Amino acid sequence: MTLPTIHLRDLPESGLDLEPTIDAAWLREVLVGTGLEPASDPAGALRIRLDKSGDDVVLNIRGAAKVRGTCVRCLEALELEVSCTTALLLEPAANARALKHGEERELTADELDKDVYREDKIELGAWVREQIIVELPAHPTHESCEAPSAGDVEINRRDPRWAALEKFKTKKE
Ligand SMILES: [Zn+2]
Repeated sequence: MTLPTIHLRDLPESGLDLEPTIDAAWLREVLVGTGLEPASDPAGALRIRLDKSGDDVVLNIRGAAKVRGTCVRCLEALELEVSCTTALLLEPAANARALKHGEERELTADELDKDVYREDKIELGAWVREQIIVELPAHPTHESCEAPSAGDVEINRRDPRWAALEKFKTKKE
């Protein structure tokens, strides 16, 4: 199931519950360039709830996606769950524009931070994608590989200038 776009007019006052799956093909596109790929198809399941609050929409997403890649420490295969759980308050883009003397003005940085929906549409795929990207580990690592070994600490502590000296020393010998 592809993540649907919800039109506000279709959103009942009592709210809307959806239980879409995360398609591997869809997730593969989200993961392009990350070195990770979906671990299964579907790669996960979501529980999504939308509630109207005036013009605003409360979007609750719960679930996780299974992905696989390579551990940056041991270079062995790695499988991990990426959380998709988030709660967002979305307001219509039109409301996010402050009106001054009846004219639109530039949004301030603070105002741009607000989550908005446009043209009465809530693209669930876009919000889930954003959440997955935020949660992706920069350096995928097995839990058992996380603690640095004594050797790694030694390397990190070594001043690069000493390395140059050591090279010199080795040459001389
Ligand atoms: Zn590892």
